[in-house]
Amino acid sequence: MDRIAPEKRNTCALVVDDEALMRELLTAALEGVGVACVKATAGGASALAILDATDPAEPAVDLVVCDLSMPDMDGVEFLRHLADRRLDVAVVLVSGRDPRILRSAESLGRAHGLRILGSLEKPVTRRALRELLEAPSSGAGPARAPRPAGAPLEPAELRAALANGELSAHFQPKVDVRTRAVVGVEALARWFHPVRRFVPPDQFIALAEEHGLVDQVTEVILGKALRAGATWSATGTELSVAVNISMDSVARLDLPDVVASAARSTGFALGNVMLEVTESRLVRDLTTALDVLTRLRLKGVGLSIDDFGTGYSSLEQLERMPFVELKIDRAFVNGATKDASKRAILESALSLAQKLDLTTVAEGVETEEDWRLLGELGCDLAQGYWIGKPMAAEAVQGWIDAWRSIETARP
Ligand SMILES: [Mg+2]
Repeated sequence: MDRIAPEKRNTCALVVDDEALMRELLTAALEGVGVACVKATAGGASALAILDATDPAEPAVDLVVCDLSMPDMDGVEFLRHLADRRLDVAVVLVSGRDPRILRSAESLGRAHGLRILGSLEKPVTRRALRELLEAPSSGAGPARAPRPAGAPLEPAELRAALANGELSAHFQPKVDVRTRAVVGVEALARWFHPVRRFVPPDQFIALAEEHGLVDQVTEVILGKALRAGATWSATGTELSVAVNISMDSVARLDLPDVVASAARSTGFALGNVMLEVTESRLVRDLTTALDVLTRLRLKGVGLSIDDFGTGYSSLEQLERMPFVELKIDRAFVNGATKDASKRAILESALSLAQKLDLTTVAEGVETEEDWRLLGELGCDLAQGYWIGKPMAAEAVQGWIDAWRSIETARP
């Protein structure tokens, strides 16, 4: 998990707030917790200009502390521009407004793929700031990595990675909440670059989408995932294997054939394939999506709505799409016992899924309390660090054996 260690001398923070007094207070608080370099500016536009500057003599900003209500560009707009730049910066949001606004801005930032460390209500105390900077960043997800070295990622590097076999699949278990049985795994794309080392998936998937390489990435991961599934199945471990599909690939009419041929060539049962499509992108090009998704279902492939709660799907859209599973975003699962709004969203997503006769999966189960709550609320499946982290294909069987031994050891 990420953290910004306060002793980290090369941390450079940028404070964005229209009130001069707040800029001074935040600067003092950041310096007080050991941030070596603090820049401050009054608005979103000037902040973006600072972030865009490429003077090698200036230290690069790796932490942005941003007020949500600013006259020139509001915080939400600023987050969107920040996300577009795909910089490796951590973000802390600050507001004097309703904490609910802060929370929705946080979720929005995360939905944009930003690394949001959390938010602070005004007046900001040094202690609250320190706690936030030192805590493992809760919503950043397991797939984050330290800042990659050097220049921005180039499409040519991804093309080379595809040609050189640098992409691999890791697998995170999905288990039955009631029986604890391991029912499947989600394949997660990993890229170990020879120089940059670990490249976060959201960075290279976005690059792939932008440069028309996403189908190739999907095919590589699909092939590796189904091959692993066939290997487990050959030793008597039947698992459903889920692969994340970009909405760009769903817009491709031959996707059902690509999936069917991957299953054929690896010997994995099509009926055990699950494709996960992110909810926030479902709404584009409904007709083609409906065509492709329906044909996938006709072939026996399962379809899952991923990251549910971060998008804007209407009940009507969900009902029209042939999904069999709904995955509730981690933002509404981890910590739901301590947060009434999260819990309310979790409960309503579960009841919506049950009404539509969908299997429910909770993502981001990180504590025993999260797990217990899912049992109480009747969620079907769960996935998250508390159960198992993403792992190499070879480690899956050993993990299953260990999980089963814990199960039998419990009273
Ligand atoms: Mg997924």
